[in-house]
Amino acid sequence: MISVKDLNKVYENGSIAVHALKSVNLEVKEGEFMAITGPSGSGKSTFMNVIGCLDGATSGIYILDDEKIEDLPDNELAEIRNRKIGFVFQSFNLIPRTSALKNVELPMMYAGISGRVRKQKALEALEKVGLGDRVEHKPNELSGGQKQRVAIARALVNNPAIILADEPTGNLDSKSTQEVMDLFKKLNEEGVTILIVTHEQEIAEQTNRIISFLDGEIIMDKIIEKEKLEKKDQSIEA
Ligand code: ADP
Ligand code: MG
Repeated sequence: MISVKDLNKVYENGSIAVHALKSVNLEVKEGEFMAITGPSGSGKSTFMNVIGCLDGATSGIYILDDEKIEDLPDNELAEIRNRKIGFVFQSFNLIPRTSALKNVELPMMYAGISGRVRKQKALEALEKVGLGDRVEHKPNELSGGQKQRVAIARALVNNPAIILADEPTGNLDSKSTQEVMDLFKKLNEEGVTILIVTHEQEIAEQTNRIISFLDGEIIMDKIIEKEKLEKKDQSIEA
C-alpha cells in the first residue's frame, strides 16, 4: 500500500540545510497498525507529512496504491489525500464554539457536499467513535479523549484507507489515551491501515509493528507478534 524508496527530505532555510529524512526505505501493507517512535527532531512528523502528501520529498520514490506520488500534479495529490487519508493531530484542531456535529461536517462543507448528506455522514461517524449522544456538545464540554474522538470522526467521514495520527495522545491523560487507542484498534480490525507517532513505549506496543527514527533514519523495525505473546502468557500461567 505504502512503498518508500531512498526517500530524502532536506529543509533549506537560507544558508542552513536540515537533512530531516535520510535514505528512508519502508513498505507498509494494507491493514497494518504501525507505531513510529523516536526522539524529538528525529523526522517523524516530516515522514508523516510526506506519507500524507502534505509535503513533498526532496528525492526518492513514494508509491501509494500503485500511484507514483512525486509525478502527480497538486490537484491530483489533493484528491488522493482527501479520498484516501484521514489525519489526526495532537492538538485536535477543533473549532471551539461549534458543536461536535458541525466540527465533523466542516470538511464536507468545504467539499461542497449537501447539508442533508453531510449531517447523515457526520452522525454516522460520531456514532462510530462512540459519541452518538454527544453530537450537540461543544469541544469545551467534552473530555480530552472525547475531543480526540470527534477529530477521529472528522477524519473518518470519507472512509479513508489510511489514518495518519501524529502524537494523537500527546495531550491526553492515561484514561483518554486508552480510549483513543481502543478506537484505533477497532478501526484497524475493520481494515483501516493506521500509522501513529508516539513517544510512549506502552502505546507503541499496542500496535502490530514499531519503527524508530533517529536523526532522519529508520534504526529499528520490529513486528510485534501478538499471538505468540498471548501463548507465552498462557504457558507461564500453566
Ligand atoms: P519529529 O516529528 O520527530 O520531532 P520533525 O520531522 O518535526 O521531527 O523534524 C525533523 C528535523 O527537521 C528537525 O531538525 C526539525 O527542526 C527540522 N524541521 C522540521 N520542519 C522544518 C521546517 N519546516 N523547516 C526547517 N526545518 C524543519
Ligand atoms: Mg513531530
